[in-house]
Amino acid sequence: MKNNNNNIISVLAVGAHPDDVEIMCAGTLALLKEKDCKIQIATITNGDLGSATLSKNELASIRKAEAAKSAKLLDADYYCLDNHDIFLTYDEPTLLKTIELIRKTKPDVVITQSRQDYMIDHEVTSKLVQTACFTAAIKNIKTESEPFDKIPYLYYMDALEGKDIYGVKIEPSMIADISETIEMKEEMLKCHDSQRSWLMLHNGIDEYVQSMKNFSAMRGKQIGKRYGEGFRQHLGSAYPQNNILKNILINQIVELN
Ligand SMILES: [Zn+2]
Repeated sequence: MKNNNNNIISVLAVGAHPDDVEIMCAGTLALLKEKDCKIQIATITNGDLGSATLSKNELASIRKAEAAKSAKLLDADYYCLDNHDIFLTYDEPTLLKTIELIRKTKPDVVITQSRQDYMIDHEVTSKLVQTACFTAAIKNIKTESEPFDKIPYLYYMDALEGKDIYGVKIEPSMIADISETIEMKEEMLKCHDSQRSWLMLHNGIDEYVQSMKNFSAMRGKQIGKRYGEGFRQHLGSAYPQNNILKNILINQIVELN
């Protein structure tokens, strides 16, 4: 699939932690890959706290390797901004790193965390990415790469369990039918073995993959399909307003209202 400049459409998915992208949008990324889009995956943190046995540095390098392995399944490059799990802050240094990520990866479409979610790292990631998309073109903001020439399309993934901190449901405005790519999504998620085994140790059951499938099945059911992933588009002033994801995945995406 080509953009207006006749270049391949480039999609960047940005999660807070290694595995968030896999849990919430890997099925859609796999569909976009099938449509010949270029896929890139990034995480704002290195997820260095998710272990009971490994040191932060050991875990960070394991998790980055797991994320890179998962990304490779879609021929995607993986970028990590190497901020620390839990301590993610909306501040100037972190914004500059996020702006540089947008400039370096030059995405037509960006997908990131829900603005409301169960964890602050996710909410801060959502804000960082929103601002980075908006400001990557500003010449007076200096980073290593040159300013980007446009504001990319911006989409938000579902929140974990599809609800906010009050337990109120967050409904997507569109759902992608990922029934054909659920196996790829599962394979990508299983690359995050450190998290799968940590949760198994923590909770006693292998619920890592199963809870992803249960939630995807719930979203799928809303559109009469086996599995789905929900999204909302950022439609604030200055951002692109047409639904490019729907244009690319015309047969898979159902708009809800
Ligand atoms: Zn996360």
